[in-house]
Amino acid sequence: YIDAERRVIRQLDATESNRIAAGEVVERPASAVKELLENALDAGSSRITIAVADGGKTLIRVTDDGHGIPQSELSLALSRHATSKLDGDDLVNIRSFGFRGEALPSIGAVARLRLSSRVAGDEAWEVAVNGGVLSTPTPCSLRGGTVVEVRDLFYATPARLKFLRTDRAELQAISEVVKRLSLSAPSVAITLRDVSGGGEGRVIYSAERGDPAARMEAVLGRDFRANAIEINAERQGITMTGFAALPTYSRGAAVAQFLFVNGRPVRDKVLTGALRGAYADFLSRDRHPAVCLFLTCPPEEVDVNVHPAKTEVRFREPALARGLIVSGLRHALAEAGHRASTTVAD
Ligand code: ADP
Ligand code: MG
Repeated sequence: YIDAERRVIRQLDATESNRIAAGEVVERPASAVKELLENALDAGSSRITIAVADGGKTLIRVTDDGHGIPQSELSLALSRHATSKLDGDDLVNIRSFGFRGEALPSIGAVARLRLSSRVAGDEAWEVAVNGGVLSTPTPCSLRGGTVVEVRDLFYATPARLKFLRTDRAELQAISEVVKRLSLSAPSVAITLRDVSGGGEGRVIYSAERGDPAARMEAVLGRDFRANAIEINAERQGITMTGFAALPTYSRGAAVAQFLFVNGRPVRDKVLTGALRGAYADFLSRDRHPAVCLFLTCPPEEVDVNVHPAKTEVRFREPALARGLIVSGLRHALAEAGHRASTTVAD
């Protein structure tokens, strides 16, 4: 040991513990964007605008027209383990993206954050937090909804700042996060702008309100849509809907795989393994299928409280989800192949 001398145990203060939590919740600018966009969606917004500068390192601003936060709760929104999304008793019936009450205080502990909000029938108020230090609410001007502005992310944690990649790479990661989440909210208009140069900036991604198929086209492109088959399968209470590309439209990298469980974008080894299994007869091992699939099951069948970033889930019976993906996709692909060959024969 370098230093094995015993020292007194002490309780960490709020800023220290928030900074530690931030290590898991906000890994990079894209994770801050994800949390803020999730909050805007949870607030029932119909239009959300995200502006970022320098790959999100100097500025992330998310503007929504959701239900807002009253003045009396603004400071609470920035304290740890404070949430409006857990309905009293348990972690079973989670229907929102958020539930841990960690994102805002975590970001506030490692950046300069300004939260402005207005609920219907009230005035607009804002609070600021700088490296964990909270200001008292002051009146501001805002028509409605909420604006969260994050400047100088990780200025308070230089160790993390060093791990950030180029502005270009961070912007790319932000764009992916926005597109992924936007797939689960087709009825919300979502725009991402790069305002690095100042002014209106450059539109990176923009999707109007529409149906799921239109949103999928906006994110994955017309080509995907034209080369994909619609999926509708069900097995013992779990349903799978969405689109899966024909094997001929496969990719060299797994970039176009969008998987959702009860509306939440997830990265899951069981599910990606199942995808591979489903396409095994149709694709060589170095090719990756392009899919956009939504799994829906009763909330008690899946635990979403696995990791602070909330991108992992645990199925009570993983074999069920796996089986549904493998059999549902195999069946649909075989049928499409059969249709294609009979058309040729005609
Ligand atoms: P969580 O989303 O897990 O509840 P957060 O730290 O992300 O935790 O947010 C804390 C609380 O602040 C939320 O529960 C919500 O009540 C409120 N809040 C945050 N962002 C918004 C927003 N854009 N619109 C309305 N309320 C918000
Ligand atoms: Mg949240």
